[in-house]
Amino acid sequence: MRSYQLSNTLFQRAKEIIPGGVNSPVRACRSVGRDPVFIRSAFGPMIKDADGNEYIDYVGSWGPMILGHSHPAVRRAIAEALDHGTSFGAPTELEVELAGMIIDAVPSVQMVRMVNSGTEATMSAIRLARGFTGRNIIIKFDGCYHGHADMLLVSAGSGVATLNIPGSPGVPDAVTRHTISLPYNNADAFIAVMKRSGADVAAVIIEPVAGNMGLVPPEPGFLDILREQTAQYGSLLIFDEVMTGFRVAYGGAQALYSITPDLSCFGKIVGGGLPVGAYGGRKDIMAHVAPQGPVYQAGTLSGNPIAMAAGIATLKEIRQPGFYEKIENTAARLAKGFRHVSEKTGADLTVNRVGSMIGVFFTGQPVNSYDDARKSDLNRFASYYQKMLEKGVYLPPSQFEALFVSGAHTENQIDETIRAAETSLKEIFD
Ligand SMILES: *Cc1c(COP(=O)(O)O)cnc(C)c1O
Repeated sequence: MRSYQLSNTLFQRAKEIIPGGVNSPVRACRSVGRDPVFIRSAFGPMIKDADGNEYIDYVGSWGPMILGHSHPAVRRAIAEALDHGTSFGAPTELEVELAGMIIDAVPSVQMVRMVNSGTEATMSAIRLARGFTGRNIIIKFDGCYHGHADMLLVSAGSGVATLNIPGSPGVPDAVTRHTISLPYNNADAFIAVMKRSGADVAAVIIEPVAGNMGLVPPEPGFLDILREQTAQYGSLLIFDEVMTGFRVAYGGAQALYSITPDLSCFGKIVGGGLPVGAYGGRKDIMAHVAPQGPVYQAGTLSGNPIAMAAGIATLKEIRQPGFYEKIENTAARLAKGFRHVSEKTGADLTVNRVGSMIGVFFTGQPVNSYDDARKSDLNRFASYYQKMLEKGVYLPPSQFEALFVSGAHTENQIDETIRAAETSLKEIFD
């Protein structure tokens, strides 16, 4: 048995001085019935806790660490930037460079603004969409998570789904009155609402591959219908690619599915493990952002030089030929392994995968929506999580979060993970 003594001591102390002992809810591991391990360090695909236990990491800081942890090129870039100072509150060359790289990677983005988190990116994109169209209504989809801004905390995924809360106290009805949440992958429901309210819809925001209710891919044609309908009614289509951007392809999910949204949001990978978000899109829309236009949005630390350097270094590595094929192959090996041991042990799991993102659901039914995902057996997921941790595999501590494979994971580590899953599932389904 592994010891978690130092983690437990730290958590007791943390709970007294930080709400729930954590700075973001899912980290508390409540839904999997244990206390969190505190992390000391991470290198490549491995992560080490305060007690010295090592794990193969599939959280990857919830997405950013596509190169694995402590990648030498990223560390070098941060160290070089550090030599010049940490923050100036004035424009720098690094911001122009990263903006240029995003625009080169994602053709729908002609202009981009840096912020400090994914939440800021989506919140700002919504404000811009409303300011640009002069309309109020926002359509989102159940189980999609777009950060914790008030108007988007309706039927949300991620921690909101994990903790099974419908919305949040502190969000006035007046703010969510203009938000409509519809079932993911249900084109008929969407078309019906557009028919009724399309002329008042400022924007439709979606995770083009949903990664905050586990991993749920879009059904063929679903994103095309969103594109057609929004164009028809003059509403903006916002792809929240905070998770999928630079993840499912260098150009994001919009490259994978050949859809051109009006606005896109980024975060996670674009900051290379430092706090960065970005939103961008059509030039005529982005021209409405202050100071070029009247829609206000600002940030003291936006475009921070250390964070820009980490983002640039990360993008330079992952745009190398063959990188995405490699992580896709690694992830495919893992998904295949999960399916195999699920069959072998009679666990009857549903395994979804897009690129290097995987969702393993404790239900035998296909998972195409949040309602489907909620049919999962959460108790069994919780014991699976605990057993995997004990065997040295660090999974996201929620049925409603995706696993991430990085460029640093080796076939040996994948095979070790599959063996751990087989043993764990055997114990659970015996
Ligand atoms: C993580 C995430 C966000 C929020 O980003 P933060 O940096 O946590 O604020 C928004 N949208 C999606 C799709 C995400 O995965």
